[in-house]
Amino acid sequence: MLSTNSNEDRLSYIQFLGAAGVVTGSKHLINTGDESGRQGMQVLVDCGLFQGQKEWRERNWQDLPLPASTIDAVILTHAHLDHCGWIPRLVKQGFHGPIYATPATIDLCGILLPDSGHLQEEDAAYYNKTRTTKHAPALPLYTLEEAKQCLTLFRPVNFGEVKQIDNQLSFRFVRAAHILGSAMAEITLPSNGKTSKLLFTGDIGRVRDTQIAPGRVLHSGPTEGEDCDLLVMESTYGNREHPHSDPRPEMAALIRTTLQRGGSVVVPSFAVERSQKFLFLLKELMETRQIPRVPVHADSPMAINAVEVFLKHTEEFSPETKALIEKYGSPLHWPNFYFDCTQADSKKINESRYPSIIVSSSGMVAGGRILHHLLQRLPDPRSLVLFIGFQAPGTRGFTIKNGADEVKIFGQQVPIRAQVAALEQFSDHADTPELLEWLHTFKRQPKQTYLVHGEPAASSQLREAMTKELGWNVQVAAYREKVQVE
Ligand SMILES: [Zn+2]
Repeated sequence: MLSTNSNEDRLSYIQFLGAAGVVTGSKHLINTGDESGRQGMQVLVDCGLFQGQKEWRERNWQDLPLPASTIDAVILTHAHLDHCGWIPRLVKQGFHGPIYATPATIDLCGILLPDSGHLQEEDAAYYNKTRTTKHAPALPLYTLEEAKQCLTLFRPVNFGEVKQIDNQLSFRFVRAAHILGSAMAEITLPSNGKTSKLLFTGDIGRVRDTQIAPGRVLHSGPTEGEDCDLLVMESTYGNREHPHSDPRPEMAALIRTTLQRGGSVVVPSFAVERSQKFLFLLKELMETRQIPRVPVHADSPMAINAVEVFLKHTEEFSPETKALIEKYGSPLHWPNFYFDCTQADSKKINESRYPSIIVSSSGMVAGGRILHHLLQRLPDPRSLVLFIGFQAPGTRGFTIKNGADEVKIFGQQVPIRAQVAALEQFSDHADTPELLEWLHTFKRQPKQTYLVHGEPAASSQLREAMTKELGWNVQVAAYREKVQVE
């Protein structure tokens, strides 16, 4: 039996409540007490949705192993839904503490969480209409309104600022360079009679060399020279290497050829971050006359809001982005760039017979306005569908990208006659060599390292690589496993 009478006897532990053995649902609980009951602080690092296959999505409906009302605070690394999308559910279940995040993350959550609530409501309505659910009636995980309400709990914490949560547990955000506002959380707490430093990486962005990840809007490189006792690290690309060539010449050639033959370019892309990056690259290619000046449509209801959030956070821009904005101003006012917000605007693009570039979401063609654009352009051999993001197995995007002859959209089989191409260089995750390069900058070897946020093969291969190359003690975290902070 562990004694918890004094701070000296505290044995803090972590419990992995998501993103263990899978890349979504990030939720890591820190408890500064022992396992016999609630002691000290309970803090959740990230609170993400499980996404993808049904067996994972069903976990979104499971309760946490502790009452949500007993969690004192959430520390959020970034605004991707697999890290923040379960927050409205947590609040619905009784959590009422502060949610700490960087100002840019809070702004992005203000767009993404209500949209997620809207999609949850749409899904429930669809299941009820088609009666494809055993639950009658199907309910949303949370609604748009509930998602909006939880935004009042967010509290901004700037990079580098030390935030004291109670008299013992404190944290600060350092840069993860993954997406706008993304951070790693350095947490200091008492355990076993001493102070321990924990580092939760969230998702880790590309390393310093911008040439291998061109088109970055943000300055690149996660904070180097870290120093911690316990590391909880992502492993999404733990067994993969990104192409290291500059995608711009290939991108320009693909677009030029398509436009010359009278076709349009359709780009399925996430509305936030990836779309902005791609628009900046298009502008650069047009201004340097590598592609003709044709109309560019950013067709997503979130696109204008997302651009405004980006422009608000110039402190995160790379020097190249700063120069581009200084020279040409806001993308919202660039000639020939259209942010189509209403459905009528979106419809007009489909009626146009002139070649154009259409950037629309969802990024994996799961839903959204991209479906209408693909319905129109996929049967046209002059057009090009250009993928710039990861396509998960089982999605329409995966089917199209992998050479199928047809794909089902709105209940009809649509023939794929358009050219299909993919550029793999746009990833926002460091690959294996980059992760190892970053780990080499650590001041010392952490006593404990746990890998999360990776498919089992990716996590175990990264574990092997880290053991071999760094000689570190590395474990792959298991779902709901508890580990003591040593
Ligand atoms: Zn992410």
